[in-house]
Amino acid sequence: MPETQLERARSGEVTPAMERVAERENRDPAFVRREVAEGRAVIPNNHAHESLDPMVIGRAFATKVNANIGNSETTSDRSEELEKLHAAVHYGADTVMDLSTGDALDATREANVAHSPVPVGTVPIYEAVKRAGSPEAIAPELLLNVIEKQAEQGVDYMTIHAGILAEHLPLTDGRKTGIVSRGGSILAEWMEERGAQNPLYAEFEAICEVFAEHDVTVSLGDGLRPGCLADASDEAQFAELDALGELTRTAQERGVQVMVEGPGHVPMDEIAENVERQQSVCDGAPFYVLGPLVTDVAPGYDHITSAIGATEAARAGAAMLCYVTPKEHLGLPEAEDVRDGLAAYRIAAHAADVANDRPGARDWDDALSEARYEFDWRRQFDLALDPERARSYHDQTLPGDNYKEARFCSMCGAEFCSMRIDQDARDADGEMTAIEGAEETDLDASAAASANLPPVGTHDTSRVPDRIEIEGVTFTPEASGDDD
Ligand code: SF4
Repeated sequence: MPETQLERARSGEVTPAMERVAERENRDPAFVRREVAEGRAVIPNNHAHESLDPMVIGRAFATKVNANIGNSETTSDRSEELEKLHAAVHYGADTVMDLSTGDALDATREANVAHSPVPVGTVPIYEAVKRAGSPEAIAPELLLNVIEKQAEQGVDYMTIHAGILAEHLPLTDGRKTGIVSRGGSILAEWMEERGAQNPLYAEFEAICEVFAEHDVTVSLGDGLRPGCLADASDEAQFAELDALGELTRTAQERGVQVMVEGPGHVPMDEIAENVERQQSVCDGAPFYVLGPLVTDVAPGYDHITSAIGATEAARAGAAMLCYVTPKEHLGLPEAEDVRDGLAAYRIAAHAADVANDRPGARDWDDALSEARYEFDWRRQFDLALDPERARSYHDQTLPGDNYKEARFCSMCGAEFCSMRIDQDARDADGEMTAIEGAEETDLDASAAASANLPPVGTHDTSRVPDRIEIEGVTFTPEASGDDD
């Protein structure tokens, strides 16, 4: 039986996949091997996925971004699915998850694996529900069959919600939004209807055998992730996390590569401690987070609310970010939503990589900034995270070829282009000349120093009137207008 990347790393072997990953990450192959051997990184790489270009997920490496694709019962067909896969890879997804729940599941999955250069992930319980007809009708053998078949089809990683246990379910009773994970809600219904323990937990060792045979990475799903800020960091979430820690060790002992999924919706100030807790409970296994969304109030813009949280999570040590599109909570994303979601998440991942000093991360920013200052518009577009969008926004107002050398754009215009003015003000060596005597300026003695008291940038509350009267209505800071 071929071994997994984890087993080979533990035996001291640097595999071709590790070599490739090291090249992509600017790292020593021996370092990659060590991170995989210690369970701090995974290389999802099903033996049957021939079109794959290996990549690594781990906190010591560049932050990765996953894009969810897949059809639903109500919308999307197979050609649209391949279009979404293409869009996801084109716009920079490091992995894709096929979350199809509609028709032609096998054909869609096989087409995705055959065409994808990035790892493909699935959530097998979705297919099990489709085949059984309802959550409670799922037989544990069916679940195992589905997992085995998908492993044979070349799926690189699977989300298995094995950590949501029967004893956790009452802990969700006081929640505002209950159980929002699809897999979690399906398994909760199964356990409630059958009065039995989660079959993915009960059969976890058998599942690990399948994963070890094909080198499928297990992504331990967070079925009890919070679906709103009010439910974040609650007893149910952390009880499941403890079970995920136990499952992490069970899988790794059997040679299976492991990553762990995380929330969800989390207030900004709780994100870092969520990441640290997962890293501690799961022995540093890569943390794969969905967002998290840092506010619940912006449906239609949740790629932004969640990218803010994702940046914070990656900064704190999350290894992969599952993107969220503007359609989150509202509908199935289309190709343009995939593009917007990926752009938001690649920005989040890269911002964290710059802050975490990942090798080569800042070079990208510096190269683009140099092109910008040199008015090398073509190079600026080529280096942009989304080159087509950058080019098209520029060309909306200045489409001619001559404007590709122009020392301005339409934002400030030729006369007020600050970078052009700055360059004109410098000498031939690009330097500014200090004005003689300027270094002796006493700022404390200037008129501005007293005129700007209290300190510049703060509000002088003594100048705010206690009462304002408008058309007979009096406004005070405490009451907004209904006292006269
Ligand atoms: S016009 Fe303004 S935005 Fe455009 S290049 Fe010059 S400084 Fe930058």
